[in-house]
Amino acid sequence: MTRDELKRAVCAAIDAREDAIIEIGESILRQPETGFREHRTAAFVAEKMREIGLQPQTGLAVTGIKAIAGSNGSGPTMAVLGELDSLCIPGHPFADSDTGAAHACGHNAQVAGMLGTAIGLMQAGAFEHLGGNVAFMAVPAEEMIEVDYRLGLREQGHIEFLTGKAELIRLGHFDDVDLALMCHTKNDTKASHVANSSNGALIKRIRFLGRAAHAGGAPQKGINALNAANLAMTAIALQRETFYDSDTIRIHPIITHGGDAVSAVPAEVTMETFVRGRTLEGIVDANRKVDRCLRAAAMAIGCEVEIETTAGYLPQNNDTTITELWGENVKTLYGDNQFSVEEHRTGSTDMGDLGHLMPVSHPYIFGASGVSHGADYLLEDKESVYVNMAKLLAMTVVDLLYGNAGEAQELLRTARPKLTKEEYLAFNREMNGTERFTGQAR
Ligand SMILES: [Zn+2]
Repeated sequence: MTRDELKRAVCAAIDAREDAIIEIGESILRQPETGFREHRTAAFVAEKMREIGLQPQTGLAVTGIKAIAGSNGSGPTMAVLGELDSLCIPGHPFADSDTGAAHACGHNAQVAGMLGTAIGLMQAGAFEHLGGNVAFMAVPAEEMIEVDYRLGLREQGHIEFLTGKAELIRLGHFDDVDLALMCHTKNDTKASHVANSSNGALIKRIRFLGRAAHAGGAPQKGINALNAANLAMTAIALQRETFYDSDTIRIHPIITHGGDAVSAVPAEVTMETFVRGRTLEGIVDANRKVDRCLRAAAMAIGCEVEIETTAGYLPQNNDTTITELWGENVKTLYGDNQFSVEEHRTGSTDMGDLGHLMPVSHPYIFGASGVSHGADYLLEDKESVYVNMAKLLAMTVVDLLYGNAGEAQELLRTARPKLTKEEYLAFNREMNGTERFTGQAR
């Protein structure tokens, strides 16, 4: 069987199970769960894997799942990933009425696509013709939300890092994986696109601590923490001209608690921000400047500031060979001019963490409507987001692993990972920390 014949056989196997694959995606849509809480979704995925003859490991990084199929461990191993977690958008038509959790980023389609890939490859007997293995993985907690809950999990010793892929890397579940592929849904006119790179991010939570006093009668006896926050935001904004355009720095602070009562000088004000950028060096530089602004504001007002920094996402870089193979498969499925490559995105994903350790690609597929992460985000074209996603993932796996996995072997021979696992863990741990600065002027 030639490579193209095998691809056609796998696609035919996916077509034969089209209804079941769509139903997987729609079932997960109806039971949304946010990161590190995806217990029902994970149980559902494990059951589906067992049904098709896979033997899933479960409970990885709280809720993650992994099942390997292939040539008895010889040859390279390629991971196909689907993210388990939802967002929290209470106004979404499929939001959980108790928790507000809702699939407003289409991760439910990713899981259907990953399982659809497994179904297609297994049913078509594809592994007889592949010289490597596929790790089918359902991964927790891609979205950086509910940070308090995750820090609680960290305190209780359940996790160390706040995203699913970072935790899976730490725990060694990617140690036997050589390259990885996943696909996100999107709202667009073209069938598929990929960005060569995207921003990484650090997560910061800040607490200014002043002193309450009568806001009208005796403000001179207080220390106004809100004024310090205000000053800090201005100081951060004034750093912008010092950033390289090529680093695409994004710093977007919000005040999460601005005071307790309007009649009292605010004694405690809290803020959160991400510090995003295209390169690790750019992020570290911008983060140092943000810390400087926070300390300066505390000093000016004479209050204290507590700065908590947490590793979030590393910048993402997609492997061009995997991306080109994907693009050719888009052409086969959708025709010419349906695939585009953009230079850079300023959003972030923890696929960037994995991309520092091995070749990865993270394309997008059309079929959604509404605003991503919005209350109107729906997967309209079910054929595209569920069935064609599975076909594109499976076809790209075949491209890389067909025969003696020559394409993957060649790719890995020339790949230059940016970090070793040890360097990656050290960087994340170095970024994590809390500083308490006492304003000198007090
Ligand atoms: Zn997403």
